[in-house]
Amino acid sequence: MNVSETGIEKLKMTRNKALNAQQLGMIKITELPQIGESRARLLKKLGIQSLLDLLYYLPRRYEDRFLLPSLAALKPGEVGTVKGIISNIEESPSRRGFSLLRVEIKDSSGSATAIWFNQPFLKKVFRKGLPLTVTGKVDRNLFTYEIAVTDYEVGNSRAPVHAGRIVPIYGTTEELSQRALRRLMFQCIKTYATWAKDLLPAELRNRMHLLPLSEALFQIHFPQDFRVLKEARQRLAFEELFLFEIGLLTTQNTIQSKGRRHLPKSDLPKKFLASLQFSLTPAQNRVIEEIEQDLSCERRMYRLLQGDVGCGKTVVALHALFTVVAAGFQGALMAPTEVLAEQHYLALRRFAAPLNVRVAILTGSLSKREREDYLSQLKEGQLDIVVGTHALLEEQVIFNNLGLIVIDEQHRFGVQQRDLLLTKAPTADVLVMTATPIPRSLTLTVYGDLDLSVIDELPSGRQGVKTYFLPAHEKRKVYQFLKKELKAGRQAYVICPLIEESEKLDVDAAVKRAAELAGEFSEYRVGLLHGRLKIGEKESVMDAFRKGEIQILVATSVIEVGIDVPNASIIIIEGAERFGLAQLHQLRGRVGRGTAGGTCILIGNPQTQEARERIKTLLEYQNGFQVAEKDLLLRGPGELMGTRQHGFSDFRVVDIFKDGPLLEKSKEIARLYIDIINQEIKDEIAFRFPSLANCFKC
Ligand code: ADP
Ligand code: MG
Repeated sequence: MNVSETGIEKLKMTRNKALNAQQLGMIKITELPQIGESRARLLKKLGIQSLLDLLYYLPRRYEDRFLLPSLAALKPGEVGTVKGIISNIEESPSRRGFSLLRVEIKDSSGSATAIWFNQPFLKKVFRKGLPLTVTGKVDRNLFTYEIAVTDYEVGNSRAPVHAGRIVPIYGTTEELSQRALRRLMFQCIKTYATWAKDLLPAELRNRMHLLPLSEALFQIHFPQDFRVLKEARQRLAFEELFLFEIGLLTTQNTIQSKGRRHLPKSDLPKKFLASLQFSLTPAQNRVIEEIEQDLSCERRMYRLLQGDVGCGKTVVALHALFTVVAAGFQGALMAPTEVLAEQHYLALRRFAAPLNVRVAILTGSLSKREREDYLSQLKEGQLDIVVGTHALLEEQVIFNNLGLIVIDEQHRFGVQQRDLLLTKAPTADVLVMTATPIPRSLTLTVYGDLDLSVIDELPSGRQGVKTYFLPAHEKRKVYQFLKKELKAGRQAYVICPLIEESEKLDVDAAVKRAAELAGEFSEYRVGLLHGRLKIGEKESVMDAFRKGEIQILVATSVIEVGIDVPNASIIIIEGAERFGLAQLHQLRGRVGRGTAGGTCILIGNPQTQEARERIKTLLEYQNGFQVAEKDLLLRGPGELMGTRQHGFSDFRVVDIFKDGPLLEKSKEIARLYIDIINQEIKDEIAFRFPSLANCFKC
């Protein structure tokens, strides 16, 4: 379409040609003759700016307002819709400024009285002898039925809008009445639904028994019956999912096409497993096999490893890293925080040293000298595995022959960062790990371009974590409890509240709390961990805590992800209401890792209903998936970490809760059709799912 054409002229041009989403999106509603400027302003508040927005502005719900066969069929106490001929109009004198309009209607079966409160202007709309359809709650007095009218329709229209059919209820604003919006939608949808171009291959439409697109668009707004409404919704949701899945598959194909084999040439990975002090869970074994399979084949691995806090993902990642090293390649492990990177590094070093595997850590806080040394060793291939934060992404970091990238707690990284790492080593296999802040139902959508491995069990012998809540003023009780536990040889975390977004204030608070606790618990050692410590300092604090030389570790939320000290069995979280649900679950996951079980004490002063709900959720559920489901309910999908960037919020029709089964189906179908998708459909996908668009460029 020529961009210089405007308004009605453009409309005329396009009348004989169906338009794809992008073209519909270019038609502003102000160009439509049905919509004036003031209406357009109100519609804008609803997020409707283009014809595309308008067509896909779907009803929130529907009401069954089909006509009852006669007035005699009205049932007191129920909502009913009837049609009759107006036989009398009566306005009661208003009492205290309150007016009552009574309109009598008749049919061959009898009569009923329709009642409006406070809408005197309606009197002018009605006339004796006109047909009138009304809907509302029915009451019965001595003489007649009374209907408290919620909506009506005058005349004998063959296409009623507000009553006498299934009626859509839209979300609207105060200034725009439901009736006005509905009428407007009716006029527009009737005219413009036919403009939408059906891009799905005809063969697919037949196979899936899909309604034609225009028909579906009309029926989802003004359905002729509930069966067709369902078909219309199916059709639109399927199309959306199908296109999205095609997009994901394309990304996946692009990414996976450039792989290499990483076949181990020694028994290094086996030796690693043999050096563990525990035996793997069946789930860990299964996932290790899945990964081995991926590593050994030509296709590039692009896999998500999902598993609740404490299920043992690290071992699986280390095994994968040792496997590529045994194949003669380098490995990289990227963690979201320095503390976590360091912990991984320490664990890795413990296993690597006896196996002659050369490892190093790259974080922001290395000295210049150390950093330069590591960088050159990395480039020369003198290092086998490097662990780091996003410092690994920097340009100066050059690998000799990177074979595997592991990204831990992937939800903490943006999609851009992930993509950056992908391009850094275009043939390296990729394993991303997450302790699932995302419910299962969403995984396929949000991470649909990755293959999925799930560790769905905890190591046996875990006792779980008991969770309690105490209001802030009862903190003394916690101290008593803590004393008892410390005496029994346990260790504890004390997490200080998040203060605004300022790291410095966080740190100050933690320093203060540590001093306080050192006084209170003078016979024990209290350590302090926060983001401003130098790497060596963090290392020695963590080390001392791990060895049991420190009994109480005061920390800011830096320890949220991944920290692993099995003997630490208590975590006290102050200002719990300031943390998000996923974050609290992660924090709680720091304890209960040994066989002794753990205790999590939430201290706080929740002011809002939502904050109280969050805390209640944690008291109620231990399982991370359940917590995540609840999180989703409380916050809505747009807020879930990592989902916003991932195409998730691009859906107009799909409701990820309801459309789970359809999601599976569309994925399956998308696989069948991926090879015959034409450029027009690819463009449509890039337009409708901007977050996927990048993949079409690479
Ligand atoms: P996460 O999946 O949260 O990253 P980790 O990998 O940190 O969990 O593992 C949690 C703890 O469980 C660690 O102390 C780890 O050594 C231990 N662990 C892992 N696998 C097993 C197992 N199969 N049996 C017993 N303990 C295990
Ligand atoms: Mg972990």
